[in-house]
Amino acid sequence: MEEKDELQVQVHYALIEQLSANTRRQSKLLALLDECVFECDKNLAFSYVNEAWQSKLGFTSPMLIGKKITSLLTKQDALKLSAYTCSVLDGESNTSLELKINNSDGLANWFELRLACDDNGGFIGSLHDIQRHKDFQYLLTQQQEYAKRLSLVASHTNNLVIITDQFGKIEWVNKSFETLTSYRCEEVIGLSPGKLLQGPKTNLASRQLMSKAVKNGQPFQIETVNYDKYNNEYWVAIDATPVKDENDKVRHFIAIETNITQRVKAEQAMAEIEYNYHSVVDNIPEIVLRLDEQGKLLFMNKAWQDFFQIDIAKNIGLPIDDFIVTEDAQQVRDVLNRYQNGHRGIERFDVRFTKTTGEENWVEMTLTPIKSYNDDSLTSIAATVVDIQERVVAEQILLDAKHQAETLAESKSRFMANISHEIRTPLNAVIGCADILHDTGLTTEQKRYTQMIKTSSDALLSILDDVLTYSRFEAQAISIDNQPFSLDTCLEEAIDIVSESAVQKGLELIFDFYPDVPAQVVGDHVRIRQIAINLLSNAIKFTQTGSLIIKAKCIEFDNNNFTLQLSIKDTGIGIAKNKLDSMFKPFIQSDNSITREHGGSGLGLAICKQICDAAGGSISVSSELNKGSEFIVNYPLSIDTTDSVQREGFSARSKKPQVWIFSGYSILNQAIEHMLTRHSIGFTGFSDINALPKNIITPDAIVVTNKDDLLTAEHFLKSYDCLNKPCLLFIDLLGKTQKAAVPSDGMLRVNGPFKPSHLPRAISILDEQLFHLDIIFTNKKDTAINGQKKVNQPFKGTYVLVVEDNKNNQIVVKQLLEQQGCSVEIANNGQEALEKVQYQTVDLIFMDIQMPILDGISATKKIRELSIVTPIIALTANAIHGDKERFIEAGMNDYLAKPIIGNKLNALLDKHLPKLSNLKHTKLERMSEIWTLLK
Ligand code: ADP
Repeated sequence: MEEKDELQVQVHYALIEQLSANTRRQSKLLALLDECVFECDKNLAFSYVNEAWQSKLGFTSPMLIGKKITSLLTKQDALKLSAYTCSVLDGESNTSLELKINNSDGLANWFELRLACDDNGGFIGSLHDIQRHKDFQYLLTQQQEYAKRLSLVASHTNNLVIITDQFGKIEWVNKSFETLTSYRCEEVIGLSPGKLLQGPKTNLASRQLMSKAVKNGQPFQIETVNYDKYNNEYWVAIDATPVKDENDKVRHFIAIETNITQRVKAEQAMAEIEYNYHSVVDNIPEIVLRLDEQGKLLFMNKAWQDFFQIDIAKNIGLPIDDFIVTEDAQQVRDVLNRYQNGHRGIERFDVRFTKTTGEENWVEMTLTPIKSYNDDSLTSIAATVVDIQERVVAEQILLDAKHQAETLAESKSRFMANISHEIRTPLNAVIGCADILHDTGLTTEQKRYTQMIKTSSDALLSILDDVLTYSRFEAQAISIDNQPFSLDTCLEEAIDIVSESAVQKGLELIFDFYPDVPAQVVGDHVRIRQIAINLLSNAIKFTQTGSLIIKAKCIEFDNNNFTLQLSIKDTGIGIAKNKLDSMFKPFIQSDNSITREHGGSGLGLAICKQICDAAGGSISVSSELNKGSEFIVNYPLSIDTTDSVQREGFSARSKKPQVWIFSGYSILNQAIEHMLTRHSIGFTGFSDINALPKNIITPDAIVVTNKDDLLTAEHFLKSYDCLNKPCLLFIDLLGKTQKAAVPSDGMLRVNGPFKPSHLPRAISILDEQLFHLDIIFTNKKDTAINGQKKVNQPFKGTYVLVVEDNKNNQIVVKQLLEQQGCSVEIANNGQEALEKVQYQTVDLIFMDIQMPILDGISATKKIRELSIVTPIIALTANAIHGDKERFIEAGMNDYLAKPIIGNKLNALLDKHLPKLSNLKHTKLERMSEIWTLLK
């Protein structure tokens, strides 16, 4: 038994020994385990934890024994754990639970918990650290998310995305690619993008760069032109990146392409604009600049560089003043100041630039303010600069030449004036003596010779006048002197002067004055009359038969300004076509043989042109050989707005005169009608004198222009009783010798040219006859009636002193004055005159200008110093520009140009001498005066 027991004990020991060895081995094994192993009771309170708890979670065994496992969990995980324990208790094995366990520092880590029931009703369990797995899983999810997002972006981006393999063969393209290129993804897979998309305009260097980068597995960025499926080109900016595997081997290329077609097109358009701009601005010879508000240079074109021979870049920002001559720079500154103060107009002025060589160069500068888009504010100033150096030099040369020419012309004019004086003085005596001789009871033969002397002297005088006037114009010694005047009177004066020769030649002369031409105007009365006289005398000179029609009308009205159109048309010899252009040049005559026949200086038309040019008007001619000529003058005038003298008219009368016109001559008819309208006289025209309406309305006058109608008209008038019998007015254009009938027989005859004043004057006279109106005509003319001089000495009892050194002229002037009833005293020079006026009372002095001992001007000054106020009239042969002023300044009252013509002298006597009798003319006298006016 003992042996048995001992054996048993030995077995027991051996068992214990084995058990403890097992336990030790188990403990060692547990200590070696990486997993956290634990035992717990049924309430999950720890009863054992292995060493891994400390290494993994920082908990030692004492820290945990007795603590509940749930104390290391979140509430949520604790709930999950209780569910899990239930399932373990229910026998579900092989399950696990993933939990987050807080370590000793309170940080949670992921563990996989496995529980099993132990034999004591508790649990044994292990915690496997799955934090790394969890981290990896999270990363994977993140990456998947990212890849998903990337793929979304790639699919939906507006950019084109192409993914190729490492050899550059397409693997995938996105929607935008499909939309832009019209290729579908499936049809491009496996193709090379280069071959597919590049085309004729794709730059070779770009192609090479891309294929080299793909070959070398390098990224590249490039902008290139591609072509879609239908060969439309588009521009893309390609950003291609190689995608490498973990071994750094290129697996793919991802190319992201931005459609830059619009931008490239805009850039191309801009470049074209820029090119156009530069090709224009840099190739024009004028300098173009842009300045800032202060005048600093912002931009200059190439012309600037060429002009100054300096680099443009170096001048940017410099003030423009630096390039302008100091004295001229102020002009630019003034304009800039005005711009800064709100002025926005274009300014142009001339300044001198200083070149780098120091040389000065005239330029014309034009500044234009550039305004902002939104408002009127100034952004900068554009400037163009034109080189005018050559022009300025040429102008200076011209100016010098002009000055020289003017000086020459002035001397020529002086010379002409002196020559003219020298010729006029003896000519004066010749004309005067011939006049006097004519009235001394000569035989017919002798009268013919004196008449020839007079005609030749007149012709000589007229040539002299032309030459003098022309040379004065050339020397610009004559200017246009605008004064108020009566246009009717001016033109009638011209007609009066020349009409005699027209009548003698049997030419019809009709003056058609249109109703719209103003009566009182402002202009140069003398020059207009001179034009009219020149053109009329030419027309008469070069017309043998037919008519001369003068028309005055208005062609342009602008407020008070208008253009008078004067047309003088004849039926004469005309002018050859090839001569027409040179007709207004001096000394030109259409045909030399004609000139010999007709005489003349060839200056008349040149003078007319000079006058028209000086007044801003024009003159032209149209003509046909052997058919006639028409000269047209357009002369600017203005209406005399200060005019208080109204045209003689009948509009204010209670009874407006009525006239019947019988005229088959349409031109004359029109002239008569214009004139009647102009004077507010009512009229009715009749073509058949035999169809006169009787006793319907009685006209005030009947106008007849045809001799054949006269008798019928007279016969017709007999049917009226005396009281309301109309007057008969017969206009006989060719009438020469017939005397005007006395008004009492109710008939007036107007001989010669038809002038606008005829009818109103005639009607006035008839009116006076019929209605006993008292009309006074103040413009008294020569008192000769029908060629008979009236022996009338209106200035009887007046004393006139004639101061003149030339004996012949003394005789002529004395004779003319004595004819007017004056007592005449002669002084041979200024000194004699001075002595005479101190001791003798005189009513008027005629004073020559050029005299020995004391000249006329000095003598006048001395007379005025003596406070003698007697009117002094200058006698001068060379009244050139400014002389009149000189005479007036010296104290003279008027002047009389030599040769002295009777009626001009009489007019001056009229003006300056007291008349013997200031009695009103008798009615009879006035009537006879009127007759004379009507002639
Ligand atoms: P003048 O008459 O003194 O010779 P003008 O200058 O007045 O000088 O005229 C120049 C020339 O123009 C005349 O000589 C004549 O040949 C021509 N001429 C002018 N007016 C007429 C006209 N109405 N009809 C024909 N020829 C004319």
